[in-house]
Formats: sequence, structure tokens, C-alpha cells
Amino acid sequence: MAAAPNSSAADFADSQVAFLYASQTGNAESISYSMYEEAAKRGFNAKWHVLDDHEKFGFNEVRTAVFVVSTTGDGDPPDNSARFWRVLRKATRGKDRAYSHLRYAILGLGDTNYSNFCNTAQRLDKQLLEAGATAFYPKGLADDGTGLEEVVESWIEGLWPALARVAQCAPSLAAETEAVASSEIEAEADAVSTGLKGLALNSSTGTSNTSAHQPLVLNFQVMESLKAISGAPRVPSAVCKIAPVDSSSESSASLAEGLACPPWHASLTGEDWDDVSLAPFLATLQSTAQLTSPEALKRTLLVEISLSAADHVHGSWQAGDSFNIYAPNDEGLVAGLLERLAVSPDEARRPVSLRKRDAAIELPTHLARFATAPASLFDILQWACDVCTAPRKQTLRALADHCSEVTDRDRLLFLSSRQGAAVFDELRCQAPTTLDLLHTFPSCLPPVERLLELLPPLAPRSYSICNAPNTASDTWRFAFNVVEYCITVEGSDVSTLPLRRRGVCTPWLERLPRGQRILVAKRRNVNEFRMPTGLDARPVIMVGPGTGVAPFIGFLEQRAQDLVAAGAQPQEAPLMWLFFGCRSRLHDYLFRSQLEQWQSEGVLTRLSTCFSRDGLDGPKYVQHTMAQHEDELMSLLLTKSALLYVCGDAKGMGRDVNDALADMLCRYSVKHPECFDVLADADPKQLSKVQALQLLMRWSTERRYLRDLWA
Ligand code: NAP
Repeated sequence: MAAAPNSSAADFADSQVAFLYASQTGNAESISYSMYEEAAKRGFNAKWHVLDDHEKFGFNEVRTAVFVVSTTGDGDPPDNSARFWRVLRKATRGKDRAYSHLRYAILGLGDTNYSNFCNTAQRLDKQLLEAGATAFYPKGLADDGTGLEEVVESWIEGLWPALARVAQCAPSLAAETEAVASSEIEAEADAVSTGLKGLALNSSTGTSNTSAHQPLVLNFQVMESLKAISGAPRVPSAVCKIAPVDSSSESSASLAEGLACPPWHASLTGEDWDDVSLAPFLATLQSTAQLTSPEALKRTLLVEISLSAADHVHGSWQAGDSFNIYAPNDEGLVAGLLERLAVSPDEARRPVSLRKRDAAIELPTHLARFATAPASLFDILQWACDVCTAPRKQTLRALADHCSEVTDRDRLLFLSSRQGAAVFDELRCQAPTTLDLLHTFPSCLPPVERLLELLPPLAPRSYSICNAPNTASDTWRFAFNVVEYCITVEGSDVSTLPLRRRGVCTPWLERLPRGQRILVAKRRNVNEFRMPTGLDARPVIMVGPGTGVAPFIGFLEQRAQDLVAAGAQPQEAPLMWLFFGCRSRLHDYLFRSQLEQWQSEGVLTRLSTCFSRDGLDGPKYVQHTMAQHEDELMSLLLTKSALLYVCGDAKGMGRDVNDALADMLCRYSVKHPECFDVLADADPKQLSKVQALQLLMRWSTERRYLRDLWA
């Protein structure tokens, strides 16, 4: 953005606003991007960066910052902010108010179904305040459990006047932008109030010649009595255009035989990595085996990949680590989408370059590389854009402008409005792909470059490594459920089939032939979810139902190797106790023979299992089995400083196990008050639930209670 003609250089520096994000799945990134783009249009000197680039963009000099940060796992910050946190922690510890020059606003994204709601935003706020920074606008916390939009849209609306009080914007441009914006909004309101004509019940009118989509079932009856709508988000500006590629320019080479990775993988692997062990690399698919029986409710696969060509990861990983896989969107889905957008197969495969429409506004990160490295529209849609995530309201609002039929336009406007919230929820619950959406509004035909910029980035998928480093072979094994499920829409007529949904990565991995090379990258193990190496004297308690057992298979493999290396007998090593749960002993008892063998050899000291759907008496879930062994468990934790590891689903299991542990501590405190410092002078000598939860939190900070929880 050019500086205002009369503003001095110093004014200009002062007026710079940094839009900063930390994003795991791309949501925070795309929300931050649309704010940045709007700020630039409004005349602010706006910059946009991922938090981990703090050194590159000079975070220490930033005076006004707007953060959009999400929370993942068990209240953890996204991977692309790990370096930033280290720097911030140092600044906070320094107690010298290192950021007293910084004014900031924070929008946090989280989900109240998980514990530690919006923990990243809360922590960031606390640490910035401790480092002397000042909040210029109250923090917003958006809940994905009920829909992010409600908080996000109104928070953004209130941001602009607050921002205008702390940062200058170019006056002429600002006035112009306001004028454009208000005339657009008035025109929109007119169109909506005259266009709403009382619409039919079901929007599943899409006709398609591809089989890769399914119609959505949405009830627009409520529109019949509506005179006007309000609260529709602003239409994001178009920022990207397709530029012809001259024959001499370099394009992403098509993939060689045996490569199943983004065609631009060489540029990803060649990037400058702060920690080189985190750089992506090509690994070879060695084998795929099914761990569950055909009758199992979920299909679990075990995949092994060879790391033989990846020198930079040798010696840099441990059991308990996890890694990312760069997976593509389904080919049929992408072909269907391009066909629906009227892009011919020839056009779709021809390299194009993506350019900025406005030199001052950066392209979204996932498209920026195509400004200098042309790629085909097919490849861009297949590898760079998320076409499987339910759309944001802003996307629906933008798509409304590309409908030739007033019915489609009105319905999309309605979906993006305050009055359409309930139908928007119906849409989200059906987890539509972009293709489903376009077929539901048949006259909607956005230019392909418009759709590319509206779609969020396609994030890599993460898996736990379930083996330990081994000098004899250099491989990673991982286990996952193939994500395929059906959604039955309540209230839909009987002829409506359940909607079939598939994950991006797991069905692809399942189909991938042996020998294919895929792009992977080790993840930073922020929670240090690792077993102490060697025969450390502390007992290890592991809780891992379902595929949550994966890292513990690595732990046990590590223990078996450590015993051999030390020439020790299992009974000389500290206890390892695993709590495992699944649905059926016969059908989804993962790694059963391996676990039983380790148990018979004494590597695994104790194995406690439960089966939730076998219909037997006895414990159903892992926390119930733990409660059966309450005294032994509590004694190990309180008198032997045992390490407690929990891995698996964050939403149900992680939260419930934590709660059950707190209850166990309370009960145990009655029998053994001497084990609890806080009870020394207490009367009665019994831990309260709050004290028990605080103790668990303390253990978590001391890394005695480690949780690797997955959304
Ligand atoms: P799951 O859905 O967690 O089910 C495993 C067992 O846990 C079932 O018997 C289930 O019983 C039970 N369960 C359900 N609700 C529970 C609760 N509130 N408390 C305790 N147990 C409960 O297993 P999964 O399908 O394999 O999923 C595991 C989770 O771990 C996923 O979130 C996955 O993302 C994550 N994870 C994955 C990896 C990986 O690398 N792929 C690694 C670590 C963790 P019912 O179904 O009968 O109720």
C-alpha cells in the first residue's frame, strides 16, 4: 500500500499494521488474510505474516499488530508458531517490558468441545501483557463448536474503528474505500429486499454429469416471510488473476512416475528451514496392512514408509514424535470441480501463473508460489486448495455475486446473513465439498481464479509414528482409521440418500501402490511426548485407546531395544503399564499379538484392556479400567513419581480421562492425605475437585503428565 501523499516517512512507519496468524488447518490463516486484504483496501499500511516468520518481518519493530490464532490438540498452539513462542517466552521472562511499544488485538479460534478453549489466544494475550504490550481492542474468542462466524464477523466489524484510533490510514484512499463499501452494501440490501420471493423447501436442484458430488439438503422455507437480511459479511476483494505463461517460462514439471506429491515438491524441500530436521522430504511407501477385521466399525490401516533418502532426519526423531503427510484432493473431485467451473480438460492441464491484481496486496500464501512458478489449475486445486472444508460465510457471500439466477443469489446471501444462521448450520453439518456447494446452487459460476483465492489452503495431515528409531532399518510406521462416513440429514425426505463423506489423506493412502514416493515432514514435538531414553528409573503409565495406542507401540519398541542394548532383564527395568480400549476384542484390538508378546516377555509389565461394545460386564472405557486399579495407579503417581501419558481423541476421551483422574485423586486423598502437600494444614483432609485438577495441571507443566490429544 502506498503511503498517503502528505504523510512523512515516520508517520508511515507508525501507521503500519501487521496482520499475524498461527494456523493449523488454514482457518486462522484465511481469516487473517481476509482482514489484511480489507485493511489494505481501507487504506491501512497493512502487512501479513505467519508468526514463525517473526525474524524475517521484524516482529520486534511492529507497533500495531492484529493476531488471529487457533488452538489445536490439548490447547496447543499451531505448529507454525512454535518458534515465535520461544522468543515471546524469553521476552516475558526478561521482565523488561520488551514489547511496551506494541498495541495489539487478538482473535482466537477454538472449540468448546475440547478442553482449554482458545488457549493459544489466552496465552498470547497474557504473555503480551506481561511483556508490556497494550491491547487496543478486546480479545475475540470464536467457537468452532457452534460456528466461528458469529464472533468472527462482529469482531472484525468492531476492529476497524478501533484500528483507526491507533494506526493511521491513507486518508484519500480510506474515504474512497468507505464510499465504495457503503454503496455496495446499500445496493446489496436493495437487491436482497426485492429479491426474496418466498423460496421452495429444498435446494437440491443441482444437475451434474459427474458422480463426485452429492446435493445438499437445505431448508429455505424461513426465507418466505423475510423482507430483508442483515449481517452478511463484506465481499472480499478479488486479489488474484491468471496470467498467460509464455512458452519460455519455467513451469512445475509434471510428476515423474512413482511420485505422489505436489509437483512443486522440490521448492518445498529446498526451503530454508530453521530446524533442518523439519524440512519435508520424499519417503517411499513400503507396505499397507489392515489391523482390523472386516467386521470392525472403523477400518484401521498400518502403513510403513522408508526414509532411506532422507539424511536430514537420521538421528533426529524419537518414539512419540509425529509427522505430516502432504496429500492431494481426490482426482475425481478436482476434475468435477473444474468441469463445473467450465474449464476444459486442456485448459485445466496447461500451466498458468497467478498474479496480484493490486501490487500492494499479497496473494494468499498457498497461491503466492504460483506467481513465479507456474502450475496447472488442476495441480493447484489438487494440491494447494482445500476443497473439502465447509465454506465460511464470507465465501458464500462472495459466491452470491457469481449467480445468474436470482434464487441462487438470494439463497447464498441468506446463508451468509444473520437470519440464515440456522440454515448455515444445516449446511456445515453436511460437511459439503466445494463441488457439492456449487451443484446446490446451479447458476453460480465464479471465475476459477476467484474460487482459488476464496478456498483455504490444503493443510498437510498429521500422524503419530508408531515405531522407534532402529539402526537396522530406517522407517516410520503409522496407524490410522480410514475416514469414510455417512451423514443422514434429519428432516430430509425418505428418498434422500445419506451423504457419503471421505477424508482427504486416508482413502488416498489406502489406494496408493507400494513404491510410490510421498512428501512428508517430521513435526516439532512441542509437548515433548517422548519416553525417557535408557532404563530411566521412573515407572511409565500409558493410556491409549483406539489409534491413540500408536505412540506407545513406539515406546515399547524403544524399551525392548534399550533392554537388549543394556543386556538387562525386563524385571530390572521400571514398570510399563498400558491401558488400552477399543470397541471389540475380536475386531479392532490393534497390535494385539505384538502387545501380548511384549507382555509375555516382560517388556510390557502390565496390560489392562476394555472393550466398549462387546456387551460384557466390566469396564467400558479406559478410565473405568483405571478406576479399578485406582490405589495402585495413585500410589505410582504420588509416591513413585510415575510418568503418565495419554494419547487419543481430545474431545471425549482426553477430557473424560482427565476428569476421572481428578476424581481418583480426590478419593485417594481421603485414604492417604499424607501424599498431598496441600492437605498438610487442611481440615477436612480431602482434596477438592478443583485442587485435584490443579494438581494435574501442575504435573502437566512439570511434564509428568503428558497428553497427545487429537481433534
Ligand atoms: P476412538 O474413537 O477413541 O475409540 C477407541 C475406544 O475409545 C472405543 O472403544 C470408544 O468407545 C472409546 N471411547 C469413546 N468415547 C470415549 C470416552 N469419552 N472416554 C474413553 N473412551 C472412549 O478410537 P479411534 O477411532 O482410533 O480414534 C482415536 C483418536 O486418536 C482419534 O481422535 C485420532 O485422531 C487420534 N489419534 C490418531 C493417531 C494417528 O496417528 N492416527 C495418533 C494418536 C491419536 P465407543 O466408540 O464404543 O464409545
